Amino acid sequence: GEERENLSYELFGRAIRELAQAVADDGYEPDMILSIARGGLFVAGGLGYALDVKNLHVMNVEFYTGVGETLDMPVMLPPVPNVVDLSEKKVLVADDVADTGKTLKLVHEFCSEHVAEVRSAVVYEKPQSLVKCEYVWKHTDRWINFPWSVEPPVVRRDGQVLDA
Ligand code: 5GP
Repeated sequence: GEERENLSYELFGRAIRELAQAVADDGYEPDMILSIARGGLFVAGGLGYALDVKNLHVMNVEFYTGVGETLDMPVMLPPVPNVVDLSEKKVLVADDVADTGKTLKLVHEFCSEHVAEVRSAVVYEKPQSLVKCEYVWKHTDRWINFPWSVEPPVVRRDGQVLDA
């Protein structure tokens, strides 16, 4: 549909508690939470408090859109999580939304080589997602306005790149 899914900070607060409750009710006890920057940082922080997990890590994944290319590929940007930090751990991957699911697929493939178990928690999942997340607060096929990105930045920063 044309209408958008609007998430306020207030509703996000409730969503994160319900998402955490679903993880707890399922009996999953993650050793660490792996957030996917930047949207996943909000989710991971909330889940960390609600699930009493202090071991939080971050992964930077960005969509690279090749000019004139038909394929969109997410790429991992440095710094990549230390595999020693991940080894033999039960991981909960936290993100804002699984849309195409390509981002989560990449993270899953990276993790599954190193960790004991990996599951994913997202606020939203769309029907076309390649990855079916274990924990989803809400399913939607609409474009989502998140409270942290619905407004433009307060300053303009052109050509900013992450440190290698
Ligand atoms: P993917 O397609 O790999 O599942 O999603 C990649 C990223 O695109 C998400 O983490 C999110 O940052 C962004 N994205 C995908 N769908 C939406 C949406 O409906 N609204 C917003 N604001 N961002 C989205």
